[in-house]
Amino acid sequence: MMIKREPILAAIFVCGLFACCGCNAPIPNDVPSGKIAVVLTFDDGPIGEEVSASDILKNDSENKEVFLKPLNRILDTLANHNAQAVFYILGPGNTAPTDELKRLYAKGIESIHQRGHILGYHAYSHDFMIWTSLLNIPSIGKTEMFADLLRLKNFIDDVMNIIGAKQSDYFTKIFRQPYGGMGKGWIEGENVSFWLGWTYHGFDIDSGDWIGTNVHTKFNRNLNGFADERKHTNYVIERIRKGASKWSKAKVVDILFHVNSFTSNHLDEWMGEIKSSFELASGRDVLFVVPDSYLRISDPVTDESVSTDMAVSFVEDLIGR
Ligand SMILES: [Zn+2]
Repeated sequence: MMIKREPILAAIFVCGLFACCGCNAPIPNDVPSGKIAVVLTFDDGPIGEEVSASDILKNDSENKEVFLKPLNRILDTLANHNAQAVFYILGPGNTAPTDELKRLYAKGIESIHQRGHILGYHAYSHDFMIWTSLLNIPSIGKTEMFADLLRLKNFIDDVMNIIGAKQSDYFTKIFRQPYGGMGKGWIEGENVSFWLGWTYHGFDIDSGDWIGTNVHTKFNRNLNGFADERKHTNYVIERIRKGASKWSKAKVVDILFHVNSFTSNHLDEWMGEIKSSFELASGRDVLFVVPDSYLRISDPVTDESVSTDMAVSFVEDLIGR
């Protein structure tokens, strides 16, 4: 089931709390007629959540840049398609932010920036308890989210010192909440994003590329037979086709991907599928660009259908179908 949160209601809610936020401004027509803009978004980089920061620190190898391999391959694929994308950056979470780790982040962030992509904010810690507001106490939820994002900003400042540049020269004030703000967490996440002056984004299509790529979701991979990589990539393709049909009238469509090795292996094929599916469904040419309106106008719409699929499979498995 696709859950569409009403942006207008959200705007009323936010503006009700904070006057004159300007979020009812009309969306400018910055996508040429006859075109549809597909914004490819990559969460959890530059290293990717499948590798924990502690894994990096434990690794004795001289060449720590091996941990940027998925990112670099994704950047190469985007360049081959002449595409601009958005990367929502994740901090090191519970692992100590050593100089070694900061240097790796600096390399990754520098590569993303130099290749013309947009850098945005995700979280310092990808903690379910913070980002889905399980405690259901809005004031505490917001305080924790705010603290996490300030920590991320401070960490990025340290990383930028290594590059010798300012954060504001590299980063755009856009934010994606971990887990897409599942549950009630998105309302708090959107508030906090507004306090920081950031544009808030959910996603229109969840590609499902995250299934099984981190410790929390590995069980899903086996459960759905996605340990067979072909089966998993077919599922992503099916998601793209369904999404193209659902969003065929849109001007701008945001597709959620992640920095991980699975995605880096298959992105080229998926971009071909996005192009053909969207062109067929919309009758327009696909542009892999990030329109100015995307950067300036918050949109909390989040596709939670993959998470719902996963939950249903889990329950079916428990009760033996
Ligand atoms: Zn994430």
